[in-house]
Amino acid sequence: MPIDEASTRLAEVREKIARAAQLAGRVPESVELIAISKMHDAAAIQPLIEAGQRVFGENRVQEAAAKWPELRETTGVSLHLVGQLQSNKAEEAVALFDAIHSVDRPSLVQALARATDKVGKRPLCFLQVNVGDEPQKGGCAVADLSALLGEARAAELPVGGLMCVPPLEVEAAPYFALLAKLARDHGIADLSMGMSGDYETAVTIGATHVRVGTALFGERE
Ligand SMILES: *Cc1c(COP(=O)(O)O)cnc(C)c1O
Repeated sequence: MPIDEASTRLAEVREKIARAAQLAGRVPESVELIAISKMHDAAAIQPLIEAGQRVFGENRVQEAAAKWPELRETTGVSLHLVGQLQSNKAEEAVALFDAIHSVDRPSLVQALARATDKVGKRPLCFLQVNVGDEPQKGGCAVADLSALLGEARAAELPVGGLMCVPPLEVEAAPYFALLAKLARDHGIADLSMGMSGDYETAVTIGATHVRVGTALFGERE
């Protein structure tokens, strides 16, 4: 992707975020845009970095480990993990990522707590909630959130927010509203919600982190 195309796409997404934030009486700076670069190579990512984007997200530890150390060295960007995480990769994830959006079970909380002690680094954690109660998706059940949060706090994981991926092909707004209510009820500040198809809606409902891939990079192969 040429740099001017990257700049144009980035400007468009930022403008839509700003407009949605304004509608909700918020300042645009209250929303962090995470560019989801999964399945895109360094050549596709570099123009977006040059266009000024600084926060990126990946959904697999292995893929991120292969392409990011080099990209990051020259640019000082931050990197978020948004995909499911196996406990045996916790240490690698803690070393590689600045935030982890997919903390969804007690065994992972424990693995991350051990990993943060060992690595000496504490990525910001989001607890992922399976808002649509879908068996194939990650995230804890709504009913299990309180217990999971208790475990995370007891393990001294830095929990900054909640995250969700609503069911496909139905209106996302009610699921975003549910996540926002759960965050309010539990005294949690941040909300990681909204993807290319629905990030404006998510911002009007309170998203502090939107995860946008396709709208910035084009379709994935
Ligand atoms: C791929 C992915 C995104 C970005 O999806 P787009 O529709 O391409 O914007 C956001 N969040 C998660 C968890 C993803 O896996």
